[in-house]
Amino acid sequence: MYEDTFCDNLDCFMKGLKKRNPHEPEFHQAVREVAETLFPYLDAHPKYREARILERMTEPDRIISFRVSWEDDAGNTRVNRAFRVQFNNAIGPYKGGLRFHPSVNLSILKFLGFEQTFKNSLTGLPMGGAKGGSNFNPKGKSDREIMRFCQSLMTELHQYIGENTDVPAGDIGVGAREISYLFGQYKRLRNEFTGTLTGKGLSFGGSLVRKEATGYGCVYFAENMLQHIGDSVKGKSVVISGSGNVAIYAAEKVIELGGKVLTLSDSGGYIHDPDGITEEKLEIVKQLKEVDRARISAYLDHVPSAQYHEGETPWSVPAELALPCATQNELHLEDAKKLVANGLLALAEGANMPTDADAVEYFIEHKIHFAPGKAANAGGVAVSGLEQSQNALRLSWSREEVDQKLQTIMIDIHKSCVKYGAGSDAYVNYVKGANIGGFIKVADAMLAYGVV
Ligand code: NDP
Repeated sequence: MYEDTFCDNLDCFMKGLKKRNPHEPEFHQAVREVAETLFPYLDAHPKYREARILERMTEPDRIISFRVSWEDDAGNTRVNRAFRVQFNNAIGPYKGGLRFHPSVNLSILKFLGFEQTFKNSLTGLPMGGAKGGSNFNPKGKSDREIMRFCQSLMTELHQYIGENTDVPAGDIGVGAREISYLFGQYKRLRNEFTGTLTGKGLSFGGSLVRKEATGYGCVYFAENMLQHIGDSVKGKSVVISGSGNVAIYAAEKVIELGGKVLTLSDSGGYIHDPDGITEEKLEIVKQLKEVDRARISAYLDHVPSAQYHEGETPWSVPAELALPCATQNELHLEDAKKLVANGLLALAEGANMPTDADAVEYFIEHKIHFAPGKAANAGGVAVSGLEQSQNALRLSWSREEVDQKLQTIMIDIHKSCVKYGAGSDAYVNYVKGANIGGFIKVADAMLAYGVV
C-alpha cells in the first residue's frame, strides 16, 4: 500500500498521497490546495525537493487513536472514538484544537492538522501543528454528561500532551465549558498547573480576547485586504455563515468597523436581517447561542422583521464581503457564482476550508480578494500562543495589549501573503502567498535538523 516514489510533478505526488491515505477526501483536498501552489516554488528551490520536505510534511509525526467510555445520565455505558494527530513540531510544541462533532474522522483531523502547521507558522510564533477530537456529539447532552465525557477523554489524552509537548485548544463543539472540564481533569491527573490547554477561563490562566480572537482576527485580515486596494470594511454589506464562536465575534468586529451584517446561520438554516444585525441584536444572538444553546431560528422570536430560510446557506444574499465561519466545504461553485454575480468584492475564511476547491478557483479566476483560512483565521491560535506566553510568565496582559498584539500579527500575516502571493498585476493570490509564507519557516527548520 505504501509507495515511496520520487515525484517532480503534482499528479504523481497526489497519486502517491491518495494511495497511502485512502478514503480521506478532506485530507487529499487540503494537501492538493497547498501542493498546487508549492510545486512551482519547489521547482525554483530544489533544496526542498531534494530533501523531500513536502513528502515529510504530509506524513503526520504520529497519530494517537483511543476509546472513550463514559456513562450517560440514565446509567448506560457509551463508547466514542477520539484521536490526536500530532502533525509537525519542527518550529515548536504541537498546537491545535479539539473538535467534538459526530462527523469527526481521521480524514477531517488530518486535513485540519496539516493546515494548522502552515497557519501556526504564519503567526510568527513558535508553534507546531496538531488537531484532535472525537465523534462525540455534545448537542442535547447534559452538563454532567459533557463533564464525564471530557474527564474520560483526558484520562487517556493527558499522557501525550504537556506545555512543552502539545497544547490543545477548542474548535467546533469545544468551547469554554469543555475546556474547563478538560483542564480540571488534566490538572488533577498530573498534579501540575501549567498552560497545557488554551481557551481557559480568565480566573484560571485564560487570556483576554481569546474568545473573540478568531472572529476579530478574520475581520482584521479582511480590513487589511481591503485597505491594500484602497478600501475598507466600513459601509460594506457582509454575509456571515455560522453562529458559533467564530461567527459571533466576526459579526461583532464588522459592526464595530461600520459594516452591515446581514446573515448568520447554523446547520438548520440561515437568518437574513435586511436592516442589519446591530450590536443590541448581536447580544440576543450571544444569549441564544452561548447561554441557551438554542437554534439560530429563535432570532425571529426577538426580531420578527428578519427572515429564516430553513435548510439553506446564506450565499444567495447580495453582499460585498463574505465571511464563511461554520465548517468545511460549506460554499460550493454554484454559491461562488451567485456571490460574484451579486457584486462580491472580498471573502475571508473564518472557518477551516469552508470553500471547496472549484469555488476557490472560480473566485481567483474572477479576481475576488480571497483569504484562505490558514491566513484569515490564524488570530485564534495566535492569541492561544499569547495565552501560553502569559502562563509561562505567570502574568496577564490587558485587553488592549492582547488586541494590539493580535492586530500586529494579522498585519504581518497579510504582509507575508502579499510578499509571496503578489503577481505582475495588482491582484494578490492569497492562497499562494499563505502556502509559501507558511511553508518556508517549517521547511527551513526541517532542513536544519537533517533527515528526521
Ligand atoms: P462552534 O462550535 O462554536 O460553531 C460552529 C458553527 O458552525 C455553529 O453555528 C454550527 O451550527 C455550524 N456548523 C457546524 N457544523 C456544521 C455543518 N456540518 N453544517 C452547517 N453548519 C455547521 O465552532 P467555531 O465557531 O469554534 O468553529 C467554526 C469554524 O472555525 C470551524 O471550521 C473551526 O475549525 C474554525 N476555527 C475555529 C477557531 C476557534 O478559535 N474556535 C480557530 C480557527 C478556526 P450547529 O450548532 O447547528 O451545528
